[in-house]
Amino acid sequence: MFRLHSRNASTVKPIRVAVAGANGRMGREVVKMLVEDEAFSFVRGVSRSQAGNDVGETIGLGPIGVTFSDSLETALLEDRPDVLVDFTVPEAVKRHTEMALELGVRPVVGTTGLTEQDLTELARLSEEHRVGAVIAPNFALGAVLMMMFAARAAKYFPHVEIIEMHHDQKLDAPSGTALKTAEMIAQNRDEVQQGHPGEKETLEGARGGYRYGFRIHSIRLPGLVAHQEVIFGGPGQTFTLRHDSIHRESFMPGVKLAIQKVMELDHLVYGLEHLLKE
Ligand code: NAD
Repeated sequence: MFRLHSRNASTVKPIRVAVAGANGRMGREVVKMLVEDEAFSFVRGVSRSQAGNDVGETIGLGPIGVTFSDSLETALLEDRPDVLVDFTVPEAVKRHTEMALELGVRPVVGTTGLTEQDLTELARLSEEHRVGAVIAPNFALGAVLMMMFAARAAKYFPHVEIIEMHHDQKLDAPSGTALKTAEMIAQNRDEVQQGHPGEKETLEGARGGYRYGFRIHSIRLPGLVAHQEVIFGGPGQTFTLRHDSIHRESFMPGVKLAIQKVMELDHLVYGLEHLLKE
């Protein structure tokens, strides 16, 4: 639950934030945002390959007096951040989030690839320790609005397919955003038989992945950042919602919002849409 009082920037101490994956593409953008905003104090970056090096110098900001640690546990225990921001890899994120919750540090997680089972277990751990957490498959506000609008449109257009497009270094497919969009659509959509019941793939995978009764397609190409189309079809018409992140700075207002809101939570929130006022 949110507390009703709001934080006043002039009287409240900056929120102390550590970043796991601080040398990655998203992590670098987060560090830049934290260093430039006086509401935050960036206390530690975690990177196994850069231990001991100045984070600012490594990521092109010039020296900032904060070094990389090669151990998340040491960073959480010694630096006592209020919040851990995680933009790492699917195989590390669950353990990182568990570790933060167990040590009383609020996780804000952007790394995708967590399963429904993982989310259930992390929600339980967050409640058990009464430590707030935010996990969001997409921190771009425009993408979150696209998901919310898609969920509304599904009431009137139950026939739908999702096409998500990302840069070719992305490890998981489909994207966390596509899965979350599908989940939100499914909650608002009447069960329908989509496509021809006798449909047959003559090339495996041609019709994409199947979830909640409809299809999700993943495209991976250099030159892309993060894009998604949700296409609804009805008699005589189609309706397309599209969002494009063309630079990673598009995610930063959402990350900032999540860091501020997680300070007021005592449970796990999955999806930035739950932090936006209607
Ligand atoms: P990246 O490969 O540039 O960075 C990943 C970082 O994780 C690197 O610094 C790497 O050194 C570190 N790392 C690798 N293995 C690790 C391990 N075992 N333990 C700890 N750290 C490890 O990736 P990226 O483009 O920055 O994306 C990171 C994650 O964020 C991906 O899961 C991506 O899908 C996700 N993402 C989420 C959003 C969102 O809005 N939620 C937006 C963009 C990307």
